[in-house]
Amino acid sequence: MEAEAGFLKTGMRVSVPFGKSKIYTALVFNIHTNKPSVYEAKEIHQILDDTPIVTQKQIKHWQWVSDYYMCTLGDVMRAALPNAFILESETIISRSANASIKDTDLKDDEFLIYEALNHQTSLKIQDIISILDKKNVLPVIKRLLEKDVVSVEEEVYEKYKPKLVRYVKLSTYYSSEIKLQELLDDLNRAPKQKQVVMTLFSMSAQTKKPIKVSELTEKSKASTAIIKSLIDKDVLEEYYIQTDRIQYAGEDNNAVKTLNKPQLKAYKEIQTTFETHQITLLHGVTSSGKTEIYVKLIEEALENENQVLYLVPEIALTTQLVGRLQDYFGEKVAVYHSKYSSQERVEVWNHVLENSPKAQVILGARSSVLLPFYRLGLIIVDEEHESSYKQFDPAPRYHARDTAIVLAHLFQCKTLLGSATPSLESYYNTKQNKYGLVELTTRFNDVLMPDIELVDIKDKQKRKRMTGHFSDRLIEEMAETLKDGHQIILFQNRRGFSPIVECNTCGHAPQCPNCDVSLTYHQYKDQLRCHYCGYYSAMIKACEACGSLDLDNKGFGTEQVEEEVKELFPDAKVARMDLDTTRGKYGYEKIITALEQQEVDILVGTQMLTKGLDFRHVKLVGIMNADNMLNFPDFRAHERSFQLMLQVSGRAGRTEERGKVLIQTYNPFHNILQQVTTNSYQDMYREQMEERLNFKYPPVYRLIKITLKHRDYNRVNLGADWYAKSLRLVFKAHVLGPEFPPVSRIRNQYIKHILVKIPPKQSVAKTKEAIIKINNSFFNIKDFRAVRVILNVDNY
Ligand code: ADP
Ligand code: ZN
Ligand code: ZN
Repeated sequence: MEAEAGFLKTGMRVSVPFGKSKIYTALVFNIHTNKPSVYEAKEIHQILDDTPIVTQKQIKHWQWVSDYYMCTLGDVMRAALPNAFILESETIISRSANASIKDTDLKDDEFLIYEALNHQTSLKIQDIISILDKKNVLPVIKRLLEKDVVSVEEEVYEKYKPKLVRYVKLSTYYSSEIKLQELLDDLNRAPKQKQVVMTLFSMSAQTKKPIKVSELTEKSKASTAIIKSLIDKDVLEEYYIQTDRIQYAGEDNNAVKTLNKPQLKAYKEIQTTFETHQITLLHGVTSSGKTEIYVKLIEEALENENQVLYLVPEIALTTQLVGRLQDYFGEKVAVYHSKYSSQERVEVWNHVLENSPKAQVILGARSSVLLPFYRLGLIIVDEEHESSYKQFDPAPRYHARDTAIVLAHLFQCKTLLGSATPSLESYYNTKQNKYGLVELTTRFNDVLMPDIELVDIKDKQKRKRMTGHFSDRLIEEMAETLKDGHQIILFQNRRGFSPIVECNTCGHAPQCPNCDVSLTYHQYKDQLRCHYCGYYSAMIKACEACGSLDLDNKGFGTEQVEEEVKELFPDAKVARMDLDTTRGKYGYEKIITALEQQEVDILVGTQMLTKGLDFRHVKLVGIMNADNMLNFPDFRAHERSFQLMLQVSGRAGRTEERGKVLIQTYNPFHNILQQVTTNSYQDMYREQMEERLNFKYPPVYRLIKITLKHRDYNRVNLGADWYAKSLRLVFKAHVLGPEFPPVSRIRNQYIKHILVKIPPKQSVAKTKEAIIKINNSFFNIKDFRAVRVILNVDNY
């Protein structure tokens, strides 16, 4: 085996046996000659790679993630490697969709598996071991994967290609009244054609929106042939609204936009701060043109032959942004997305590893920080305040922004964080002079910031000025906006209370049988559903407790808002964007496209709406109820509400005309609402920081949350008490809990939390060491061995 040892390098995959029959894929982490003393080491089955697929820097980076977030290196590896890289006993292999395989291209053992897959849709590694009658099958599977004969099972995400929609307008030649009259006279001999022109004319007068060919045929009752003849005669002009941008068409790269004065100033300031700081925060109001500044920085990094990582929150990874970057950088842009197929992810992985020209700009969500970068020259973290950068489950529970900063450090490159509403922790770091700070206070083209108005719904209710959940002011503004042919976004926070059914006689609300939570009502399917475990049942007709028929809906969700809008504005086209409507493959993209193409007048949605989308025709934003965000029981609730409201407001009036925002609230004097209306980030920051200091919360103190889970109520209680007591011996008053969360049982597991606060001067590393010690002792106690313990560092 000496030859093998000489060939082996860290970062290569090997297949290794475990127990009697299990085989796992492992990554070579370290090569040494110290024989293990407590167990008999087995031989490596097979080396799977000729060259390492994971770099030294990557391993170092993963080690940091595992140390800092208190998880195993294996957890990090699993999060980083695309599934196709990890073959193991449980892996399911199926035939690849690509069927053009000649038998002669396959070796005997490969053919056997290929054959078997003709009879069976999928095989486990175990099955393949019996088919081939040998243990070492991973090399065969690897070859089949490379030949694209088989694939590793998973849901494959196809790229979304919106249909092109065909529109028509009257040729500009006929825009004057005289010419138009002449045309109509001419068309007297062709009454059907005349009918089309007249219909188009009246449609254009009614709506200021583009007119689809399909609408025109329907309204004028003309055949497509008649419309075609008008197009051929140049009376009508056809055009398409181009939205298909995900597949790069390979046209010439567009020159980057010339920055305007404020952008140029910000760009220069970023460069200056980079001379003294590794990290700079760009605080630029919504629509100030931050993206164009990133583009300029990327261009510069590419000139120096460096790779660039551009991180965005998962949901912001839309065709809009991909298209914008591809316009500038063409093929150099690679997208890395958890929804892409494993094969596509392997492709990007290899491009990044080889520093291929096809992966110079990596646009990706969270997990792209774990890629095998070769020559990283710049990291951009857009919307750095977004909570979705933090992974909650499973481990590694890492924060992509913070992990990116460590990655940049390994490459000695710069990180630019960008946001219109920075997180308190990043802003705090600029105050400590750990990060540089650059500000951009004007919108591009000097578009005014939207005019934000607070509507007191308590007062409106008293004076009977409410229709359902809509104040008279909101209805007025909506009617006005629709009349002008503009679009409206209505925001209803999902995290607020959803519609809960309550008995008006006895107060009973139907509960989930698996979780300690009330079921929520879904009108569309007439069902009661649990938002935690997915349990559902048909809507009840009578109270389960007292039999009363007098049931009431408490609270309201997006669905109810949608219903009410349809009643208020029966002619408007309404769409809804929330977890339920975007679940399908293209759900999210479809709604965005519909809005871009102005097929939707009013969009009702949750915080999904906030993620940096750039819509041109949205004029009015209505926030249905600010209070349920503000009252959310979390120490960040006020900060998050501020961010959310300013971000949604930012969707209004992004081009030319000033947008309008109405915020409905029971408490218009709330400080956060005042700060939102005046766009006073500084005031918000100062006030919130004071609270964080007083109540000992981040960014002043650090937090580690420890969660215990078990089916047995008593065991969780006893375990949590033991754990907390041990922590208190070390950390004294800085331990909170144990406490049951608001929903204390999920999927039949009881849950209890303990919170450890780390004061500014206390060593974070030492704190973790002490926790690990306690954790180990905990699992040495027989009764607690079955309890699940989850450690979550920076859990907020
Ligand atoms: P932000 O990222 O700050 O929200 P964007 O970069 O999306 O802002 O810019 C808002 C709009 O202004 C976009 O439609 C963008 O194309 C346009 N824009 C920004 N900077 C320029 C520029 N220098 N020249 C032309 N258009 C620009
Ligand atoms: Zn009842
Ligand atoms: Zn449930």
